[in-house]
Amino acid sequence: EERIVILGAGQGGFQAAASLREAGFSGPLTLVGDEPGLPYQRPPLSKAYMKGDAGIEQIELRPAAFYADHRIELIQARATGIDRAMRRLRLEGGESLSYAHLILATGARNRPLPVPGRELAGVYYLRTRADADALKATLAGARHVVVIGAGFIGLEFAAVARALGHEVTVIEAAARPLGRAVSPEMSAFFAQAHRDLGATLLLGAGVVGLEGAEGRVTGVKTTDGVVHPADFVLVGIGVVPNVEIAAEAGLEVANGIVVDDHLATSDPAISALGDAVAYPSRFAGGKNEPAMVRLESVQNAVDQARCLAARLTGKSAPFEAVPWFWSDQGDLKLQMVGLAGPTDSAVLRGDPASRRFSVFRFRDGVLTAIESVNRPADHMLGRRLLAGTPVLTPEQAGDESFELKSLLA
Ligand code: FAD
Repeated sequence: EERIVILGAGQGGFQAAASLREAGFSGPLTLVGDEPGLPYQRPPLSKAYMKGDAGIEQIELRPAAFYADHRIELIQARATGIDRAMRRLRLEGGESLSYAHLILATGARNRPLPVPGRELAGVYYLRTRADADALKATLAGARHVVVIGAGFIGLEFAAVARALGHEVTVIEAAARPLGRAVSPEMSAFFAQAHRDLGATLLLGAGVVGLEGAEGRVTGVKTTDGVVHPADFVLVGIGVVPNVEIAAEAGLEVANGIVVDDHLATSDPAISALGDAVAYPSRFAGGKNEPAMVRLESVQNAVDQARCLAARLTGKSAPFEAVPWFWSDQGDLKLQMVGLAGPTDSAVLRGDPASRRFSVFRFRDGVLTAIESVNRPADHMLGRRLLAGTPVLTPEQAGDESFELKSLLA
């Protein structure tokens, strides 16, 4: 058997290696990544790891022995190019690895803040363990923290910073937090929740520049001319997929490395998965008109890795997993399943004041997604309902006396 090389030793790359072995692949298997140390989980970086409740061993995906036991060769290096004709992955320093099949799991990187002052010391991002360690060290001393961007990472970090006693200002250009991911109803709930935690949340406020003294950030200036004092700044304004290596090799790229419903690129010897890929999903379009989507979640990376490992070991099937996601902010556990469009209607189940409720999303009367706060049963039910053709009506969703479980019978 010939070598499978996986580029990117993050969530998806690790899972592809583990699943290939689990599925019986016995040939040489190499996992190449540019981050130091063993592959780890990113979600705790803005949650338990940031707060100090989890150490490095808790976030590593597996201990070192796992890789030796499963004959997974770990190479720490940056890959610089793909020679498709020769089937070789070039590494920095001139070495190259031959492959029978190459899996691109290159993930995404932080979108840089596009304003003057961004080069000042004290401006942080959060994607890698190194980012998290640098942030944690700063957090030990700071008082005023400004978070730019009220997405998941910004809000999760804001909750941790508040819990550690810092003054926190969150600045968001859009009219509501989490705007790309959840319903207006859910956004409103989280806006209030963060204000209740003591954060200042500024919505519809664009950042025009960072101010500094002696090379260090001291404040964040918004469109209204106000400068918000900052001992340090966390920028969480989204990510850009790492597609350059694929594009330079001539593979199709459009908001992600383009793959088909089997996660194959246009080169039969190269597949791709995770945050870096755009793939056709019935959850994004409709049953008969899948639309291209690029998702950034553990579930997406892990399920795609499993699907691909199955194909490469002879059990080919299209990728059809139901998308789901979670976010922990303070004592609130938000879980989402399905993909809602911006105009999908929202039906409330339960009382937000109780901090245990769900928002069911519908398009043309058909369930598209469920957003749940501290209601894991609704979420789990949603995963099962959305895997098939959901029969739930908006009336049933909004009626707490209606037993959702009865739909699964
Ligand atoms: P990654 O995990 O990013 O791995 C890609 C790896 O490839 C990286 O190590 C990168 O350095 C490496 N790489 C790229 N190019 C090269 C190259 N040329 N040479 C060598 N190496 C290269 N998801 C959830 O579902 N729930 C959450 O609560 C959640 N919280 C998160 C919190 C934070 C702080 C972050 C950053 C992410 C969070 N996510 C969460 C998202 C989740 O971690 C990602 O969706 C997931 O890691 C994607 O896996 P991936 O393998 O596609 O990419």
